[in-house]
Amino acid sequence: MVERLRAQGITHPAILSAMNTLARELFIDEALRMRVYDDCSLPIGQGQTLSQPYIVARMTEILLAASRPVKRVLEIGTGSGYQAAVLAQCGCTVFTIERIEPFLAVAKLRHRALGLLNIRYLHRDGFNGWPSQAPFDGIIVTAAPAEVPVELIAQLAVGGRLIVPVGAQGATQRLTLITRTATSHTRHPLDACSFVPMLCGEQF
Ligand code: SAH
Repeated sequence: MVERLRAQGITHPAILSAMNTLARELFIDEALRMRVYDDCSLPIGQGQTLSQPYIVARMTEILLAASRPVKRVLEIGTGSGYQAAVLAQCGCTVFTIERIEPFLAVAKLRHRALGLLNIRYLHRDGFNGWPSQAPFDGIIVTAAPAEVPVELIAQLAVGGRLIVPVGAQGATQRLTLITRTATSHTRHPLDACSFVPMLCGEQF
């Protein structure tokens, strides 16, 4: 998988090393394990998916390329816990929010089993971010809202990056990079992508 990521243009050594170290099969149901290293997204239950390895690596690489050190990272959409594990393995302190409670409980167990202790969890609708822990050096959203959630931009430190797939349900989504500046922010559309929709409200 790591050789393929290199061929796809991923160069960040910490990300390649993290994805080489973390057993992706620990984040997926046993029935799907033979497909776990394929370059595709995989179902994780409740209609949700774990992104293909390339997208996980690409979003992490964009996030970590900020002009400031990236220590504190907010993730919206814990899901299987894989993206959070990659960030934690890269040395970040991760604050991860998930709206579906059972996902959080399982992700927590997986992270504990791997000895990843630099992850904090919140069961909440992520549209409002995690104001009490802001500002963040980076924010990664792993479900697609129709528009960039403005609350999240406000929780970025100056020079920090928000990476989010933007697109209405059924429309083409675009990975979008927002960089906070001293007075405002900049916005850059990047790759086309396909994520599950970002939904409002919590679920138990
Ligand atoms: N990062 C995950 C990807 C999971 S798929 C992984 O590595 O496996 C997207 C996740 O976003 C789903 O678990 C979904 O429940 C969650 N999600 C969708 N809308 C959300 C919201 N408003 N707040 C928090 N989580 C949300």
